[in-house]
Amino acid sequence: MAILDLPKPAAQLYERVSRVIPPFEWPAFEADIEAILELKRERDAIILAHNYQSPEIFHCVADVVGDSLALAREAAKGDARVIVMAGVHFMAETAKLLNPSKTVVIPDADAGCSLAESIAPEDIRLLREAYPGAPVVTYVNTSAAVKAASDICCTSANAVRVVESLGVPRVVMTPDEYLAKNVAAQTKVEIVAWRGRCEVHEQFTAADIRELREAYPGAVVLAHPECPPEVVAEADFAGSTADMIGYVGAKRPARVALVTECSMSDNVSVHYPDVEFVRPCALCPHMKRITLGKIRHALETMEGEVTIDPSIAAPARRAVERMLAL
Ligand code: SF4
Repeated sequence: MAILDLPKPAAQLYERVSRVIPPFEWPAFEADIEAILELKRERDAIILAHNYQSPEIFHCVADVVGDSLALAREAAKGDARVIVMAGVHFMAETAKLLNPSKTVVIPDADAGCSLAESIAPEDIRLLREAYPGAPVVTYVNTSAAVKAASDICCTSANAVRVVESLGVPRVVMTPDEYLAKNVAAQTKVEIVAWRGRCEVHEQFTAADIRELREAYPGAVVLAHPECPPEVVAEADFAGSTADMIGYVGAKRPARVALVTECSMSDNVSVHYPDVEFVRPCALCPHMKRITLGKIRHALETMEGEVTIDPSIAAPARRAVERMLAL
């Protein structure tokens, strides 16, 4: 599918997303995309986009795409003066932690996360009192202040490795209860879990997966480890969004279901036209606060700059860098 009378580069960009954006929707995006591409040059800016961003952002204006770990790593490289985070607030904070001299902006400062909101630094202090000597491993889906109170960060892609790297019999893992339980199933280290949940992944049930298999025979089911353990148990594979992409790329299943946020299947399917994507969909309202219009506005005005108190930034950076060093 292509819009033949579009001028380049818009026509080329549309080719990338023509499988997931119908032609009648494209004109609504085109002006913002062209403005953003120009503004990036003027501002010496790059856009980092999470895998859950909408296809018009992910495929048409982003310079770097990936999961939290990839974005954290990429944020630490490069020499652009400005980083625009097309993701949620904790991701922008992580980018700022790793790039203190750069300007980091988030197009909507209210793009939060139910996991990040589930825990405060005081909770970490109480956990340390309750479990003396147990190091605190904190998922990157948290505020800089919570990271600062923790010993080391992890992502869903590296959580088991981080836990086992500490060489202790017991760790406290915050804030995602389900990620902690899914990690506990893969290690001998005792995991003390917090009670945070991702409001997107907690919606999936084991019954959903069984119904999906009946409706779509032969579908390979890949689940995110923020899903409840019984969902992960029903899946064929569990892993971060990057792990899911790696699985699809390596195995090329004829039919696959990605049990995670809605945009993920759209974004990955663009690269694998031979794979049928079943879409067990749950939308992240926080990720969807980021739009092309808001990215354009952020680049025009430089509003939404992320700053972090230096007394928090130093220990938070240590926790993130300790993870990246692994
Ligand atoms: S998908 Fe879940 S973990 Fe990710 S930003 Fe949304 S609420 Fe947070």
